[in-house]
Amino acid sequence: MVLDNLKQGLRATLKKLVGASSIDESVIKDLAKDVQRALLQADVNVRLVLDVTNKLQERALKEQPPPGLSRKDHIIKILYEELSKLLGGEDAKLPLKPDKSNIILMVGIEGSGKTTTVAKLAKWLLKHGYSVGVICADTYRPAALEQLRTLCKRINVEVYGEEGTKDAIKIALNGLAYYSHQSRLKDVIIIDTAGRHKEEKGLLEEMRSMYDAINPDLVLLVIDGTIGQQAYAQAEAFNRNVKVGGIIVTKLDGSAKGGGALSATAATGARIMFISTGERIDDLEQFSPTRFVGRLLGMGDIKALLEMAKQLEQEADEVKVRRIMSGKMTIEDFYYQIEQVGKMGSLRALFEHIPGIAGMVKDDDVDAMEEKMNRWRYIIQSMTKEERANPDIINASRIRRIARGSGSSERDVKEMLAQYHRSKDMMKAMKGRQMMGLLKRLGLG
Ligand code: GDP
Ligand code: MG
Repeated sequence: MVLDNLKQGLRATLKKLVGASSIDESVIKDLAKDVQRALLQADVNVRLVLDVTNKLQERALKEQPPPGLSRKDHIIKILYEELSKLLGGEDAKLPLKPDKSNIILMVGIEGSGKTTTVAKLAKWLLKHGYSVGVICADTYRPAALEQLRTLCKRINVEVYGEEGTKDAIKIALNGLAYYSHQSRLKDVIIIDTAGRHKEEKGLLEEMRSMYDAINPDLVLLVIDGTIGQQAYAQAEAFNRNVKVGGIIVTKLDGSAKGGGALSATAATGARIMFISTGERIDDLEQFSPTRFVGRLLGMGDIKALLEMAKQLEQEADEVKVRRIMSGKMTIEDFYYQIEQVGKMGSLRALFEHIPGIAGMVKDDDVDAMEEKMNRWRYIIQSMTKEERANPDIINASRIRRIARGSGSSERDVKEMLAQYHRSKDMMKAMKGRQMMGLLKRLGLG
């Protein structure tokens, strides 16, 4: 697959993590270093690499895995999430409108793979049920029209072109007129352009005139993946002149710089929609950052892991509610209650839905309460695991440390602890019965 080296590097790293007898700070730091090395070798920009590995290390050290999910699995999940973000995060879909001819303008410098990609994309669109027409608006390369015709003939896609004309914009407009004829209407019309100018400025100006004249529905920028990190500057330059709607990165087969091209492109905020991994007409695939990273890390494992994490989170909720009800409440459970209230939206919204309370609580009070809950959250996050499980050990010096760590006052910490004890006693007193009913009604029990 693409980026075999990166895949091998990351998998060796994961193996080390899984093989570690226990997870401590040094294991996490080693992991971050190994990931760093693998990404740098794949040509990812140093700054982006540091962003990813710092985040990875920070989250791996700080975040508690949901009960039931092992620390190791949780760290793999974090790695998966951070790498997906590096490559663009969410998937980008080709935005095609129904009931009209979608005009796609292909831009990019010469040799990036535009013409080949036009044919590949046409094939991909046919496979997905769209009718396609192609226009050749490259007037610089003598054999451009012939190249495109040869490629498209194999997939039975018509190519509009003019042998003698030198005006690319005129050809494009004539082509659009040609395909607007009732008998030749297409779902998608792809316009191939030239990118010959050695001087970038001239090319960008021509693209802009073309863009203004054609008013395309979508501009796809084709970038040669072997240029690595330079993809950033190229994507930025094109985007400044025409509104680039999506990017296709080519020649990722066997390119050691693929990681650089993909991450640099994603860093411009542009969406990578396809990647091309070979010269054959079928070597074009839709790009999905999450799926791509899944494959890098070992698809099957990751998918199962993510599903398990989700399921465990749900199960953990039930177990916790039951424990809280029984009166054996830890600080973690207390924190969980606060979180649950947070999840339901603002307190104000919550109160508005409880008959008898609606209208009784002043807005100022609600604001103060929400502020307090936020503060408590920080306080609890500053506690050690031991302190959370066994709050009786929290003495004056621990209170001082927790206050400092959470940026609050000692009085705040004491108040939070007092509230925790009150809640615990209340739960005990009610034996959970009434509260259970209330939580059920709120959809929590
Ligand atoms: P254009 O000048 O932008 O239209 O680029 P072309 O489509 O003519 O492609 C330039 C060269 O790159 C051709 O030899 C293509 O076969 C080659 N090429 C395009 N895409 C890929 C790819 O994904 N992998 C490889 N290995 N070669 C590619
Ligand atoms: Mg070409």
